[in-house]
Parts: sequence; structure tokens; C-alpha cells
Amino acid sequence: MLTALFNQHPFTTIHFTKEELLKLRESSPHFICPHCSSPLILRLGNIKIPHFAHTSKISCAYGSKKETPNHVLGKALLYQRLSELFEDVKLEYYVKELQQIPDLLITSKEDRLAVEVQCSTISLSEVKDRTEGFRREKIQPLWLLSQPVISKIPLKLTCFQQGFIRYSPEFHYFLLHFNPERKYFTVFPHLTSVTTNSFLLSKPIIIPLERFIIPISISPPECPYPHILKNWKQYRQQWMQNKINYNSSRYDKFLGEVYEEGDTFIYLPQFIGVPVIPHTALCKTHPVEWQYYMWKDVMKKYPHFTMEMINHAFLRRVSKGDIELRELPLLSAGTGTKKLIHDYFKLLKILDLIKKGEGKYYRLSFGWESPKTFNEFQQHERDFFPKWKHILKKD
Ligand SMILES: [Zn+2]
Repeated sequence: MLTALFNQHPFTTIHFTKEELLKLRESSPHFICPHCSSPLILRLGNIKIPHFAHTSKISCAYGSKKETPNHVLGKALLYQRLSELFEDVKLEYYVKELQQIPDLLITSKEDRLAVEVQCSTISLSEVKDRTEGFRREKIQPLWLLSQPVISKIPLKLTCFQQGFIRYSPEFHYFLLHFNPERKYFTVFPHLTSVTTNSFLLSKPIIIPLERFIIPISISPPECPYPHILKNWKQYRQQWMQNKINYNSSRYDKFLGEVYEEGDTFIYLPQFIGVPVIPHTALCKTHPVEWQYYMWKDVMKKYPHFTMEMINHAFLRRVSKGDIELRELPLLSAGTGTKKLIHDYFKLLKILDLIKKGEGKYYRLSFGWESPKTFNEFQQHERDFFPKWKHILKKD
């Protein structure tokens, strides 16, 4: 922590140089924890920037927070930057109603914003609970992921890191990352999952700390999804290959269902496993799997069907555990699976796979038959390609 009580007044290390603090420490000052009133020691080492620590392990709202060197540094840097933008920025302020201490609390007119720098891995349910708590108190939370993320294609993210994915109309599913050591933020926009933990994306946008503002204001990339559509087929193919290799010696429920239906997994039609832009990231289960279930449960089964029927079938599979949704606690309500299904339906129409019937009803625009041989599969690929090449080659 960076703030203590000293002679009954708040004392923050970041307002002083290390030399000044060393000098002060020689006089054996009494620093007190503002939260639990127990004594604190001033630490002036080489790894973390100057900070306070409890002398012993005690039950203090603050003592339980894990603070890595990067966390302490990030908090100090953000405090300095945000103090240039807002008059009222509090460091490590105790929000009584929530019994929580966000790293920074900004008050601007009627609005309150809590900034949390997250370096250590905690449970996503804790992130969710704290986010909901802030929102209940009309405090807008801003979580900044500060664990190392290597910027490459595809972008690999752990389950925990994925929990920080947010949604905006400009960037769609995106991740905001803060690198305190190098003093910049990165926005990873248009995240589109290709496996459980890897994502295709548009070009990352770097924001130097001195240009960081809240709300974040940057122009979106000129050409979204440049890598996604071009390489989608290849990633889909790779995922299928891995699925077979991984499950060659064990039972896989999905592969079992495909087999029982009389379909051949490696020859599944190209329109099963299409990228539903932009909502692909909502689903942890691969598009080949969940879209196959939709074909099997609805489109193949009923001559006439509606979007609601697909929606219900999807939710039923979710409740059975066949389809798994990604845990995204920072998404505001409304970015739900309904949108995923809506856009999936739209895509089926664009691809000319379904045709409108009476009222809300649709029907397949061709007879369902899964290719049985490699030759049949190749013929299918040739037939289908013209239907979606404009989507694949977009941008
Ligand atoms: Zn304390």
C-alpha cells in the first residue's frame, strides 16, 4: 500500500523521493494503517517502489490484498496520470458501503469510478462479485489487467485473463491491458476465439500513459478483422485435427453424437463452424460443436423452424453442459447469447442456407446431406466457396 496515517494525516509515499523517505525513516516515525490502525513499516527496497506494509499478518481489509511490485508501481503511475485529469482522485480509499478498497477512486461531479489494477490471479467469481458490488453503489468499475500478455496472432489468454474481456461497439470484444513497467496501455480489439484460449484480433492499439484518458477515446482500427476471415478455414481445420488427435483414445460426447447421426466428423460441411462476427468469443465451445448441435436439434429435424427454436435449443444445450459459455464477468447485461444466435441466423441467411417461409418460419434452402467421402467433401467445398468467399475475403 502507498498510503498511511502519519501524525493523524494521510501520508502518501509517491509524493516524496526515496532520499526524502530514507531521511524520514531515520527519525523512527509512527505510520498507522488507515484501515485497521495497526502499525505499518515503510519499505524502501529495490524491487518495489517505496510502500507500506503491515508489521504482522493481521486481519485487515488491506492486508489480504496481494501486491506485486507491478501492482504498486501501476497504482502510483495511474494516480499521477489521473490526478492530471481529475480533481478528486483518492488512493486506496476505503468504500465503507462495500467494505472494499479500490486502488483508485475518482469522483467527478455525480459520478464515481473505481480503478483496479489486477496483477495477481484471483477467482473470476471475485471479479464478478466486486464488479456487481461497485455497480450496486453506482460506482463504475474499471479493471486493468496487468499480467504479462504476449502480443501475437493468435493471442493466447488464460481463463483468468479472458475474464477481463469487455465489449464496446467500436472494438467489439476487447481486452484493455496495462503495462506499468513500460508505461503504456494496449487495446486488443475484435477478439474472435479460434480455440478455448486463443484469439484472432485486429491490430492492437498502444496508448502511452501520458495520453491515457477516461473514458478511453481512440479511433477504432480502419480495417477490423483483417486476419480473422482470411485464415478462418485454416484454424477451423486445425481445431478439428486436434480434436481427433486428442480424443483418439477416449470417448468424446460430441464426436459420439456426430457418429450416431451417421455424419463423418472430418467431412462436416463448411457451414458448420462459421465465424459469427462479432460474438464468437461469447462461446467457449467451438463453433463447429455448437453449430452442429443447432443443425441436429433444429434445422435438420424440423422442416420449418424459427430463430426462437434455435435460441431454445442453444440454451438447452448450455444447461446440459454440452455448450459452455465463456465466463466474462465484466460484460454488462445485454451482451447475451441472444445476440449470438441472432447474428448466427443472419449469417445463415446471407450464406443462402435458409430461406424465409410463412410468418416467422424458415426452412433449409437445400437438402441436408453430410459428405461421405473425400471426393464428395471436395465437391461440397467447391459448391460452398462461392457462397461465402465475399465474407472470407472481406477487407
Ligand atoms: Zn491494516
